[in-house]
Amino acid sequence: MQKLAIGIDIGGQSSKCGVVTHEGTILCQSVVTSLIDSFDEYLTLLANTVKDLVRQTADRGTVAGIGIGAPNANRLDGTIRYAPNLKWARGADGKPGVVYLADRLQEATGLHVRITNDANAAARGERTYGVAKGIDDFIMLTLGTGVGSGIISHGRLVYGHDGFAGELGHVCVEQDGRQCNCGLKGCLETYASAMGVARTAREFLKKDSGKSILHNLDPEKISSKDIYDAAVQGDSLAKEIFTYTGRILGRAMGDFVKFSSPQAIVLFGGLTKSREFFHDDMVKAMNDNLMQIWKGQIQILYSSLKESDAAILGASSMVWSPDEV
Ligand SMILES: [Zn+2]
Repeated sequence: MQKLAIGIDIGGQSSKCGVVTHEGTILCQSVVTSLIDSFDEYLTLLANTVKDLVRQTADRGTVAGIGIGAPNANRLDGTIRYAPNLKWARGADGKPGVVYLADRLQEATGLHVRITNDANAAARGERTYGVAKGIDDFIMLTLGTGVGSGIISHGRLVYGHDGFAGELGHVCVEQDGRQCNCGLKGCLETYASAMGVARTAREFLKKDSGKSILHNLDPEKISSKDIYDAAVQGDSLAKEIFTYTGRILGRAMGDFVKFSSPQAIVLFGGLTKSREFFHDDMVKAMNDNLMQIWKGQIQILYSSLKESDAAILGASSMVWSPDEV
């Protein structure tokens, strides 16, 4: 009987669970809500979903363990620490707290549980099954609602002494810049994420003479998809928004290269769907911010995995190789 792994991708809205083979085929999956206030209730829901998935795939193989990718997850102690967007991870005072997710899920299911940050899980997914196969040194940037990152060096994820290394979304790209949810100002995430692009649109619209079709939308509700749609229609303000985003992101990528000298930077997440409007500016800004030794040398790769699958695959791969990526 073959061995199977369960991969769980925990997000603020929903948690996606899948049963995965060693070759990276997702045999079946299930989605549960993350919008639950009580940790105990969330845990029961997740454990029951895992048990259902184990039952559904019992004739295909034996589940050997669970891997989880989640925001603010710490691989070293199995906790989720101070995640602002997970309702059930709040303390009695309503503020983000510390929950022992790995231990508790292990108790509830009897399966061994490993946990890592969601961007690290995505990096593992790309290296095991996606565009970064065989690449030992790369940086994964997830451009979603926020900006996450996973740094692979010598074939291993960089964790740092406390398990939290690689928070490149919170590198300062603008002194005294935009306020970030993390408490700092000018973080990359406030510019190069879906949220950041929408903020740029609101700023640019205030200065615009009124020709842009984006003026027809409620500025508070504007999304990165609206801006993409406008750019596709040739709207010059929408295109300027992506140019601005690409330049900031590219310059930051140049700084990241100087730190770990990667072979490639892998980009993943919703914002990459708009890459035709920012790719060239991003690559130019990166190379303009690199010394001669790296100019033109860094590959830019876009994830080839289906977005919902990459995190499940990456999380599940921890079951096969717990310490390596
Ligand atoms: Zn920040």
